[in-house]
Amino acid sequence: MNKKTTDSVMEDIVSLAKRRGFIFQGSEIYGGLAGTWDYGPFGLTLKNNIKNLWWKRFVEDREDMYGIDAAILMNQKVWQATGHVGGFADPLVECKNCNSRFRADQIGALIEKDKSWQLPDSCPNCKKFAWSPVKQFNMMFETHVGAVQDDNSVSYLRPETAQGMFVNYKNIIDTFHPKLPFGMAQIGKAFRNEIAPRDFTFRAREFEQMEIEYLIKPPKGDEWVPLFDKFKDEMVAFSKEIGLDENHIHPIEIAEADRAFYSKRTIDIEFDFPFGQKELYGLAYRTDYDLKKQGEFSGVALDYYDEETKERFVPHCIEPSFGLDRTVLAVLTDAYRADEMDGEKRVYLKFSPKVAPVKIAVFPLLRNKPELVAKAREIYQVLKKEFGAVEFDDNGNIGKRYRRQDEIGTPYCVTIDFETIEEGKGVTIRDRDSGKQERLAEKDLVTFIKGKL
Ligand code: ATP
Repeated sequence: MNKKTTDSVMEDIVSLAKRRGFIFQGSEIYGGLAGTWDYGPFGLTLKNNIKNLWWKRFVEDREDMYGIDAAILMNQKVWQATGHVGGFADPLVECKNCNSRFRADQIGALIEKDKSWQLPDSCPNCKKFAWSPVKQFNMMFETHVGAVQDDNSVSYLRPETAQGMFVNYKNIIDTFHPKLPFGMAQIGKAFRNEIAPRDFTFRAREFEQMEIEYLIKPPKGDEWVPLFDKFKDEMVAFSKEIGLDENHIHPIEIAEADRAFYSKRTIDIEFDFPFGQKELYGLAYRTDYDLKKQGEFSGVALDYYDEETKERFVPHCIEPSFGLDRTVLAVLTDAYRADEMDGEKRVYLKFSPKVAPVKIAVFPLLRNKPELVAKAREIYQVLKKEFGAVEFDDNGNIGKRYRRQDEIGTPYCVTIDFETIEEGKGVTIRDRDSGKQERLAEKDLVTFIKGKL
């Protein structure tokens, strides 16, 4: 796709997301707050469906995972221990002519020899050449806890959920006595004061992560590799489960020079967004870095006593990290389709039924025929009880109702017509992707849909 086309596809997706109640700009009535997004009813349900599938696969269906929901505000020492206070920074450069701010690593290149930045000949915004010196900009949102504002009251909105698990390691050990290997899992908000939030929800300042810290015995040699590879496969399997096209998912090995210094191996799972192939998820073998650092700064030994070998050691960690908002965006952009049906242009979201916010819509053919409406309501109640996310719609002509459901990605529409009530010929069920309708006996409806979903 050329640049113009990808821009317009993104515009169409952003506008559909707003029009149909998936995602709104944060604080929109005040002109917005850059890098923040609000989820409307369908976006929220889509997000929850993804979250639930993640939790089921990575926590509930396993015997070795412990869920955590840690506080967003943490003792500032947590972030001193990780190096975030001193080092969680991006190189910031400002155009002195138009005051636009950019990340130097995104618009320029680092010259390795003297660690200086080679910046473009002109500002991408105003086309002038007036760069400020490049400064390191810390991305953590700082705040104060309590009434007194001094150095001791400083806290931060967490920039990742991971540390919420490491600081609870001892609690899990003391309360559950798990045997290694085991993992801790958390879904929650993270905050980064990104210099240039962009690409819709892809780079936001407030976002949600789904992370796992999987702890293992300090491995001998390459013992950790099969487990690491298994997590990679699980991450790809999850992406497919939520409906992403396998051909759009690319696990990329990150070269040593580009990895965090404590990481022995990192794989980015990249995805073909309309604006390019970009990081969706990350998987890293973080060694014993985090537990060692939190142990060192807190003065609390974050080690493990192995009953069998009578050894004491700090476990090593493999971390699969998933951005939830990026997942929602990937699912939205991958599902977006524009085609022609019955001689008319239509837009639809080809969601997997597992994530679709509405699974089935039920229509009476005409809204002014009480017997049709009553029958449709009756069927609606049955389906709602069975499948939960079912909508009733009697607004406008049937074609419009189909289009509306197509736009929110509802896989099936059930219509009750005169043949249903007068001739007992069952209902029609329409498939979103093909637009094909078939007749089905009322008694077979639930089984048929169960099979499809
Ligand atoms: P990037 O290189 O894109 O800034 P990162 O490597 O800093 O991302 P991680 O620190 O590995 O990201 O965070 C784990 C996951 O959290 C990412 O894979 C991504 O899905 C998500 N994530 C990170 N930053 C953002 C953001 N600003 N907005 C939305 N999601 C994000």
